[in-house]
This record gives sequence, C-alpha cells and structure tokens, in this order.
Amino acid sequence: MPQAKKDPGVKKVLEALNQARSMELQAIHQYMIQHYVLDALDYGQLCANIKLIAVDEMRHAEKFAERIESLDGQPTCDKAGPIVPPQGPKEIFTLDTNLETNTVAAYNKFAAVCRQAGDSLSSNLFEQIIAEEDVHLGYYQETLEHIKTLGDAFLAKYAATSKHTGPIKSFVKVMAKEDF
Ligand code: FE
Ligand code: FE
Repeated sequence: MPQAKKDPGVKKVLEALNQARSMELQAIHQYMIQHYVLDALDYGQLCANIKLIAVDEMRHAEKFAERIESLDGQPTCDKAGPIVPPQGPKEIFTLDTNLETNTVAAYNKFAAVCRQAGDSLSSNLFEQIIAEEDVHLGYYQETLEHIKTLGDAFLAKYAATSKHTGPIKSFVKVMAKEDF
C-alpha cells in the first residue's frame, strides 16, 4: 500500500524526489550536449562514455518518477539549473566532476530526509543511485586528473577512437564488467 498522501513526511519526501529528478534532467541535457561536442572533436571513446552516463541519468530520472507516482505525486519536467555550453575536454570534465560531487552531497541529504520521514523505500532508492553517481564521479575525476597531468598526450589516445557504445547501455555495468 502506498503511504497516505496526507502524511506530513510524504510532502518532504516528494520534494526531495522531485528536486533529485530535476537534477537528473539537468545532467541528461548537460551530458548530451557535451557528447555531441566530443564527437565533433573526434574523441570517440570519451563521447561514448558520456553518452552512456547520460543514459544512466535517464534511468535515474525514471526511477525517481516511478517513486513519485507511487506516492501520488507529480514528477517534475523542470531542469534544476541552466546548461553550460561545452568547450574542450578539460572544461567538460571539470564541470562534470563538480556536478556529480554536488549530486552525491545532495542525495545523501535527501536520503536522510526520507529516513527521517520513515520512508525506507525512498531512502534506499537514493542510496542505490548514490552508488551509481559515485562511479560517474570516479570516472570524471580520474579523467580530469589525466588531462591535467598528461594534457595532449592523454587526449591523443582518444583521437579518432570509436564512439560505438555497443548493446550495453549502462555505464555503471560497463565499468563493473557486468551484464544486465
Ligand atoms: Fe543520476
Ligand atoms: Fe551521475
């Protein structure tokens, strides 16, 4: 049975879930425009990775929407913030590192809000998604570090590589070398 709509805790949970959904929608748009630019610059594999991460964020946005709907809420379609026009790989990976850092911090707070409201299904959802954001963050941080220390020598590895993502659409699963 879904929790009663009048429960005062449910309102706070719905706010947290919708705030998270709007952050996912922002990330989706941001990562999509970035992977088009990386494709145009012919960094195929960097493009493919960010495309897969964008697809992870789409899945997150849907999971939050499903939970919102099961609590009789209305899933938002608003983005949490504006989209930054992508420049080069260094700017892209700096921005994305910050975006994922902020997301992990916010979702930890939202998970606590849900726990406080006694909604373990929602707090568990946040915890599952935090684990995936942490994989994104690790990838962005490592890549940014390589760009900073190795510069063009690192980026040259990716020039003219394939942007093909293959049939597996989850970046987290690709990194974990798992099938669906
Ligand atoms: Fe996400
Ligand atoms: Fe993410």
